[in-house]
Amino acid sequence: MTEKKRNLERLTGVKGMNDILPRDVSLWFFFEKTVTSILHSYGYQNIRTPILEYTSLFRRGIGEVTDIVEKEMYSFIDSLNGKKLTMRPENTAAIVRAAIEHNLLYDGPKRLWYIGPMFRHERPQRGRYRQFHQVGVEALGFKGPDIDAEIILMCQRLWGDLNLTGIRLELNSLGHKQERAAHRDQLIAYLERYIELLDDDSKHRLYTNPLRVLDTKNPALQDIAANAPKLIDFLGNESLAHFEGIQSLLSENNITFTINPRLVRGLDYYNMTVFEWVTDKLGAQGTVGGGGRYDPLINQLGGKPALACGWALGVERILELIREDQIVVPSEEGCDVYIVHQGAAARSFAFVVAEQLRDAGLDVILHCSSDDVLVSFKSQMKLADASGAAYAVILGDDELQRDEVSIKSLRSDRTSGDNIQQRVPGKRLSEFLTNLIVTRSGKY
Ligand code: ATP
Ligand code: MG
Repeated sequence: MTEKKRNLERLTGVKGMNDILPRDVSLWFFFEKTVTSILHSYGYQNIRTPILEYTSLFRRGIGEVTDIVEKEMYSFIDSLNGKKLTMRPENTAAIVRAAIEHNLLYDGPKRLWYIGPMFRHERPQRGRYRQFHQVGVEALGFKGPDIDAEIILMCQRLWGDLNLTGIRLELNSLGHKQERAAHRDQLIAYLERYIELLDDDSKHRLYTNPLRVLDTKNPALQDIAANAPKLIDFLGNESLAHFEGIQSLLSENNITFTINPRLVRGLDYYNMTVFEWVTDKLGAQGTVGGGGRYDPLINQLGGKPALACGWALGVERILELIREDQIVVPSEEGCDVYIVHQGAAARSFAFVVAEQLRDAGLDVILHCSSDDVLVSFKSQMKLADASGAAYAVILGDDELQRDEVSIKSLRSDRTSGDNIQQRVPGKRLSEFLTNLIVTRSGKY
């Protein structure tokens, strides 16, 4: 390609990776504020790990025979030192790595949360992207079933606070390793009877990870998966007691759920309790989030054995549900005041006024020119209106001479008379505007 042609080529973002534009930000803020306030109300602490980790972390942490490790990871070799790196496809392994590395559990269990982008090389479609966001919790060092119930309750509270309806809870127990081993033998024997009918993925997993065959999304295999031996029938007394414990805690807290014996989750590290939140409103991508216990993981990644559980929710899918349910979210767009001005002296004064108003706690846009042409008051007022600001503050020669400023409401109902331009002494502006805004919007 010639240099000229290359320059003419339209630049685009990477397929499956979305820009979050200002028009979407109210929705993101609404979600982030709601979820963080719930996470804090349960005493969870925020943790932030890097986007890049050594590939070996995910191979060891997630499991070799999983969709993620086999085909979805963005992995590359650092050309400067030859190290194998991966963009995190999920955050649990990294948080456990960080907890071990920084000895976070030295003084007892920890309740942690995170939010951020994850990366998986999947076929982009509605609700499935190559960069997407997860919010998640990891409760490290707790035995359950109380903590299992607590993390589920948090999700239920989130659905309530977001006003979302129709999200169902599905629950299962994967038991202990020995219980899964006994089940595995029978499951393989059962699946071998249908080997001709299995798809390539399932054949491949038959001996490496047969439990995952039950998680198949292939409609042709649904009957085979549905009639397979159920892991729950292989659970011993301890696992059953744990499972019953969580069920009664959920029922006591009015959480409805269904037991789905085929629920196994996509990642290898789960044991005992597993759960998913599902909806019928998002088509094929109906799982909003999921989680469960991953008791062996901390030890598996080199830490002192400690039990743990957590969940991860798909933010884009939840936002899609908020849109689908037409939930009204508070607008983050527009500020309190847009200052219009004309002339050099007025411009200097406008800076002073803008800072004074910001000192008083108001959000202020100061008109700045886009070129050398003087922008008329009329055009500035149009920009003020389009900015979404509640009031325009006008500074012209006349105002400057009298040490006054003019204020015009940009949003009020035209019949109330509130939109008439008013003049106030410069000194009184902050107080006057703050009063106006408090009485109008109850901002403070
Ligand atoms: P799925 O079966 O839909 O591929 P998963 O089992 O791979 O999901 P998890 O690893 O459990 O998903 O991630 C938790 C949540 O993160 C999912 O329930 C979903 O809401 C969201 N999620 C997972 N992958 C994607 C993706 N590629 N794009 C958008 N959201 C995703
Ligand atoms: Mg997946």
